[in-house]
Amino acid sequence: MTTIYLKPHKEDSLRRFHPWVFSGAIARVLLDAGHPGNAPAEGELVSVYSSMGEVLGVGHWQIGSIAVRILAFGVETLPADFWNERIRAAYQVREALGLTPNHQSPITNHQYNDTFRLIHGEGDFLPGLIVDVYADTAVVQAHSIGMHLCRKEIAKALMDEIPQVQNVYYKSDDTLPFKAKIDGDKIGYLAMTDCEKADEFWSTENGLQFRIDWLRGQKTGFFIDQRENRALVERYAANKDVLNMFCYTGGFSLYALRGGAKSVDSVDVSQKAIDLVNINVARNFPNDPRHHAYAADAFDFLSDKITNHKSQITNYDLIILDPPAFAKHRDAVKNALRGYQRINAKAIEMIRPGGILFTFSCSQAVDKEAFRLAVFSAAAQVGRKVRILHQLHQPQDHPINIYHPEGEYLKGLVLYVE
Ligand code: SAH
Repeated sequence: MTTIYLKPHKEDSLRRFHPWVFSGAIARVLLDAGHPGNAPAEGELVSVYSSMGEVLGVGHWQIGSIAVRILAFGVETLPADFWNERIRAAYQVREALGLTPNHQSPITNHQYNDTFRLIHGEGDFLPGLIVDVYADTAVVQAHSIGMHLCRKEIAKALMDEIPQVQNVYYKSDDTLPFKAKIDGDKIGYLAMTDCEKADEFWSTENGLQFRIDWLRGQKTGFFIDQRENRALVERYAANKDVLNMFCYTGGFSLYALRGGAKSVDSVDVSQKAIDLVNINVARNFPNDPRHHAYAADAFDFLSDKITNHKSQITNYDLIILDPPAFAKHRDAVKNALRGYQRINAKAIEMIRPGGILFTFSCSQAVDKEAFRLAVFSAAAQVGRKVRILHQLHQPQDHPINIYHPEGEYLKGLVLYVE
């Protein structure tokens, strides 16, 4: 195996379990005699030593300023049961949180749940790997070539270790570094025991059923990261006229309906998403006249709602704004903040006095303070007084590694609008 020697004193951060080796910390790279290239290949497993020859760990090599992402500390090679052990450990945490179907707990109000994030990259000590579990299907996303090369071992460990998992679908066409040379398929089933047709498929979150389309849907098929925030909407929804803007497959809408909303309007620009919202509402609340769904652009809907969309309601008591990441990169932050201000101003304008706004940003590049400022500027722009009732974030199954603050991306505010 390729071995990496660090410069003197560069081992300290690894001893504290920081998972990255920067290229500037490397003194020497020693390739095996039989190595096919003259440098380690992207995704190759390498072992890392201090300048004194002490074993520090083993990880995936990457081309770029982060040269190695450590998978296991204090060993020169990955233990034989590495993937099983890591996946088992992650599952035990979800079990303790009451998110797994065999282990419902007071934390989840004893509601049946088989939808959860099993692996959140660095947050589960598996840098570059995301795994979401939907009933009997795990959807795996690799963000590094190293994880891509390990996809079959990962699938096998998922089948071995997670009692509910019968199928493993791999979906990395949008997530692998686009410049890298990639061997093998970026999408497709890695394991399938149960030929479940995606069209008949239901996954349950806190007792509500959702059709998850991992083949054609966004990301892994569903936004598990809003589970706890949806539960909070349920607590506020009774007797309210609710607007769920950027609704995707209707997550917040179902919770609002269960919470006793007077009416719920769901809006998304994607007709495919709206079709799924209607399917999900029909499944959980058959023939419920309180719900209406509109395929429309957010700004159009908020500007010109009645004439374009024939909604009965001109003002809402509760609005949820959960837009896509407006800033995908640091250099897009300024425009993104303008976008957040604009959409929040529109929403705040439409809220009845004493109404509530749930507003979110999932742009990792936009920090909490900047987002809050954009929302406050929106309120000032339309002359409404607002107060913060809750500050929201991603849930427990999206843990944040203390050395990888970038793992924290979802932020939300619940505002009381006078
Ligand atoms: N709240 C959702 C997730 C939202 S993801 C949930 O709980 O599951 C963001 C959504 O915004 C996507 O479904 C996307 O189709 C939609 N979207 C993107 N641009 C839009 C626009 N201009 N107007 C309305 N919806 C838009």
